[in-house]
Amino acid sequence: MKKIPLHWSIMLGMVLGVLVGVIFTQFESGPQLISNWVKPFGTIFINALKLIAMPLILASLIKGVSDLKDISKLSLMGGRTIGIYIITTVAAVMIGLIMVNTIKPGTSISEKTRQELVVAYQSDAAEKQAVAQKQKDAGPLQALVDIVPSNIFKATTDNGNMLQVIFFALFFGIGLILIPAEKAKAVKDFFDAFNEVILKLIDLIMLVAPYGVFALLAALVVESPSLDLFRALGMYALTLLIGLFLMGLFYLLLVRVFVKFNPKKFLEGIAPAQLLAFSTSSSAATLPVTMERVEEHLGVDEEVASFVLPVGATINMDGTSLYQAVAAVFIAQAFGMDLSFVTQLGIIMTATLASIGAAAVPGAGMVMLVIVLGQAGIPEAGLALIFAIDRPLDMCRTVVNITGDASVSMMVAKSVGKLHLRPKKEKMG
Ligand code: ASP
Repeated sequence: MKKIPLHWSIMLGMVLGVLVGVIFTQFESGPQLISNWVKPFGTIFINALKLIAMPLILASLIKGVSDLKDISKLSLMGGRTIGIYIITTVAAVMIGLIMVNTIKPGTSISEKTRQELVVAYQSDAAEKQAVAQKQKDAGPLQALVDIVPSNIFKATTDNGNMLQVIFFALFFGIGLILIPAEKAKAVKDFFDAFNEVILKLIDLIMLVAPYGVFALLAALVVESPSLDLFRALGMYALTLLIGLFLMGLFYLLLVRVFVKFNPKKFLEGIAPAQLLAFSTSSSAATLPVTMERVEEHLGVDEEVASFVLPVGATINMDGTSLYQAVAAVFIAQAFGMDLSFVTQLGIIMTATLASIGAAAVPGAGMVMLVIVLGQAGIPEAGLALIFAIDRPLDMCRTVVNITGDASVSMMVAKSVGKLHLRPKKEKMG
């Protein structure tokens, strides 16, 4: 019997999860049953993915860098990666601004709905504001200071420290290039084998992905707020979704024009990672699968993928920056404010930086939105307006975030001659 491609079975798991969630919300004790007996399997699945993120970054980046053999290649690749990441992020914010200024979703929200939303989600919004305040209080160079860990073992104990681990792995890899090859061999072989093991673990975890996403979505449905709120925010959601869709098309165009790769094949290759990003709302949790798909199915050399993707998961969030632009202007519109051109230029700047600073976990984009609102002089209480609908939109923007990373990894690979036209598992699902 022919095996069903992975993306189809994950999709089936998602659809069944939503259906079961909807059915169980009809009974009084249904949501509780799902929370007690189904949700834990979703949590286990996400935990398993997060579990291998740190060892994966460490092993694959050390191996990747040490394979480069000379440091100029690393700086060439690093420069291109950061450059392209910034360009795509700015493009995303601009798409967001154009959409929200054209559709003007904020003007369709009535005074009454606005009041209701602000009251209902005031305390949730205050929580996000408090987290953002902490980030704001730090000095301007704090982000740079945070990249260099003072203790590598401590750094690896928290998945939020991804950039610190990336820093250590790069540094270690550079050391490995600089010592005599015969001395480096043992260490390289070790990380090589270690990396293989981790990749095998990803394969194993992906075997249960359809069940994992089933559990995640069923739990999400029973826990989501009422449909009425969603309806009130429909125009905002639609504006954002159109923007995200256009961003997706932009990536396909980049892949087509700069990499000369068939966009359909690109989508087929990356689909399982996209579905996982949608189900987990976390680029960090999706990272192991994004790496595996890009290397094994899209032909990006490990040297490139192991550098571009972990960095991208933490700093390149085009979906998030697009969302911040749309949400900020939407809130301003809902409060009857007219934003000047200069203020909107400021949004391009802050949304780019805020998306770089956002962690790759669910809801992080919303925390950083507070900073964008603050800079533009938009009432931060407006966060309460969009709270109800944030999770489903977070799921969508996370898909765009990882798709952006994947397409940039192909562009960088192509530009340094590290794209293999025959990916290892082209024909598999
Ligand atoms: N959940 C997003 C991510 O992990 C970040 C965000 O909240 O926008 O990519």
